[in-house]
Amino acid sequence: MVNDNNKSIELSLEEIKSLVIRVFSNNGCDINNSNALASTITAAERDGASSHGLFRIPGYIASLVSKKVNGKSNPVVKNKTNIILECDADNGFAPLALEKSLPALVNSAKNNGISTLSIKNCYHFAALWPETEFLAKNGLVGIACTAYKPSVAPAGSKEPFFGTNPISMAWPRDNHDPVVFDMATATMAKGEVMLAARDGHELPEGVGLDSKGNITKDPKEILKGVLLPFGGYKGSAISLMVELFAAGLTGDYFSYEAELSDNNDGGPPKGGEFLLAMNPDIIADNNWNNHCENFFSKIKTLDGVRLPGERRHKIRNQTNVIRNVNKELYNKINELC
Ligand code: NDP
Repeated sequence: MVNDNNKSIELSLEEIKSLVIRVFSNNGCDINNSNALASTITAAERDGASSHGLFRIPGYIASLVSKKVNGKSNPVVKNKTNIILECDADNGFAPLALEKSLPALVNSAKNNGISTLSIKNCYHFAALWPETEFLAKNGLVGIACTAYKPSVAPAGSKEPFFGTNPISMAWPRDNHDPVVFDMATATMAKGEVMLAARDGHELPEGVGLDSKGNITKDPKEILKGVLLPFGGYKGSAISLMVELFAAGLTGDYFSYEAELSDNNDGGPPKGGEFLLAMNPDIIADNNWNNHCENFFSKIKTLDGVRLPGERRHKIRNQTNVIRNVNKELYNKINELC
């Protein structure tokens, strides 16, 4: 259904999922990859995370068309030790690699208390909360991070070097959605800046610099220039940590290396993802759950405070219909089918 403003349309989650399966199946993905991508993209739309939903499809498809990414990837998971897992994503997109490797990570952390998963030869173009939430829903504390391509100036510099380098943490709770944060270590995710540029919105000061290194609020100028890390040198240090975990530990590319190998087709660069899963039932005291619930209750008594993830989970529970799908984007995806 076309909305009154004629710029957006309404689609149900079922319609979104089948559209996504169709566009990937018609562009070189096998059914396993198409389904995994469709689940990830539909979940993003369901949670109102539109910068990592349908909006990403033209980029995903560009990387299939340019043959950079293997749409028929067959990710393989192996144990390096009891608790150290590695997944070779076979040059495919992240969702199928995650679908195949997360159950093994859960199993290992459940049994051993702690476990890591390094995903290599992978193309990550999505949010990270689907994977950390999966771990939390299985009773584990989950941490995930991935690098990108140089887009963010390290503190002190005006040149891009770090990726937007997101990191997510999810904490399990009985009878509640997990507490989840998932954030770019740039002041704002590049996808959000792209959406602001598309929709003509000004950004707050501090998101980025123009190509001459001047402060600007114009998202189009920032896209020609550079993003800034959140929180100055502190966010810069966390971004550096993400580079080291996602590349130093996995053995895949640092952001600057990803750029050297990338064909700039508009899709994601090759890289690694690092995940850590911890089992509080083994690591913590028996009463860890009550102890943490008291903490959550206490923090929520403070005026103006909410827990990270709450806004997104509230949207999730509201509706099965996405009311503001950009019409131009919808038409473009249909053309790609
Ligand atoms: P936001 O700045 O919008 O949000 C970051 C986190 O902070 C969220 O978990 C959010 O929870 C929480 N939060 C926001 N406001 C509050 C508040 N007032 N109180 C408590 N918590 C709050 O995210 P970003 O723009 O930094 O990143 C968006 C997405 O982009 C992420 O999902 C990230 O994974 C993805 N990304 C992916 C990349 C890739 O290469 N694959 C690269 C860079 C980013 P809530 O959701 O509930 O608002």
